[in-house]
Amino acid sequence: MLFRLSLNTPKFEVFRLLNAELLHFLEHSLNKNDFDRGLFTQGDIGQSCWDNARENDARATKDLTRDKFEKLFIALNQSGEAIKRQLFEAMRDQQNMRDFFTAPNRDLLLFLPQPCFVALKKVATHLYCATKDLGPIIAASGGSDIMSHFNAFRAHAVNGNVCKACGMEKLAVFRAGVVDGDQWRADYDHQLCKSKYPIFAVHPDNLIPLCDVCNQDAKKAKDLFRDSDGHERLTFYPFNEEAKELISIQFENLRDPEPTIKVRWATRDDELLNKLDTWDEVYEIRNRVEGQFRSLEAIIEDEISPMDQAHLEMRIRDEARPKSIDTLKRKEWAFWYQKLFSVLEQIDMSPFIAKWDFVQQQASDGGDYIMND
Ligand SMILES: [Zn+2]
Repeated sequence: MLFRLSLNTPKFEVFRLLNAELLHFLEHSLNKNDFDRGLFTQGDIGQSCWDNARENDARATKDLTRDKFEKLFIALNQSGEAIKRQLFEAMRDQQNMRDFFTAPNRDLLLFLPQPCFVALKKVATHLYCATKDLGPIIAASGGSDIMSHFNAFRAHAVNGNVCKACGMEKLAVFRAGVVDGDQWRADYDHQLCKSKYPIFAVHPDNLIPLCDVCNQDAKKAKDLFRDSDGHERLTFYPFNEEAKELISIQFENLRDPEPTIKVRWATRDDELLNKLDTWDEVYEIRNRVEGQFRSLEAIIEDEISPMDQAHLEMRIRDEARPKSIDTLKRKEWAFWYQKLFSVLEQIDMSPFIAKWDFVQQQASDGGDYIMND
């Protein structure tokens, strides 16, 4: 994460209860041969999972919540008590997400036979994609659905509307004249993707709203703890670690016609470097920033539109001033542009300014030409 999550980030009660339901189910499947209502919690959440079944819903063409649980139960029973116990204990003992990020167990579910893993993944995916939106589940969780949770998450007094992973995009555009429940919302990212870590599919600390670019274009199902070549790596825990103090912007070839802007890491700590590299690879941070900053000339024209050298220098000083926390929560790219201008303030820009005068002169000559034509 570029910015850690706010301490007052609300937990989504529906996820908390569905996560507890899955754990309860695995525990009560031990030493049991029949699939029945007793495998679910006694209250309304258990009842809602039980009631959400094909036989209760004549319109259903696909398996619903209870049916998916039943298939998992059958697969588990076929693999024996030892496997059932190991799965229950794996989930029970890994509920502290912060501990998991500190000492990740990358092969947590490797012991699970393939049919069990597939059935577990189907339950987990269904809980996340479908069960969480069922009316009775929302009612049993205090009436707050995912849209209300999203609105609470991105409230200005909490995290604000800028993506915490990149700082480059809004979570979702806010529309005036539209009630809270009908606003657009960002998708929730599974930090530990549900295809590899299905037992965390509805863990409330594993689900974070991120911008579409981070979640859908860049991250997809990448494993935070192992790169695509299978090498182990570490990653920032979103609730208490962040990259914002560990970044520097550098210029290369400032005397060239088009200087190059690079994002670099401002630390020598091996563990932090490892986490920064993971963050960069997962969300394509450097590619995106360096892509946005590929033309210094265009940035100066777009952000400053200088009248002369004195105006340019004054405006760079302005833009280099640190942004308030409020601005960083509201305005996408604010962190990155401030970083860029604070470096520009420090370096000798005279070669670039000479060129800028030239370009400006050309532009006004071009204008004259068109007017006189
Ligand atoms: Zn983002």
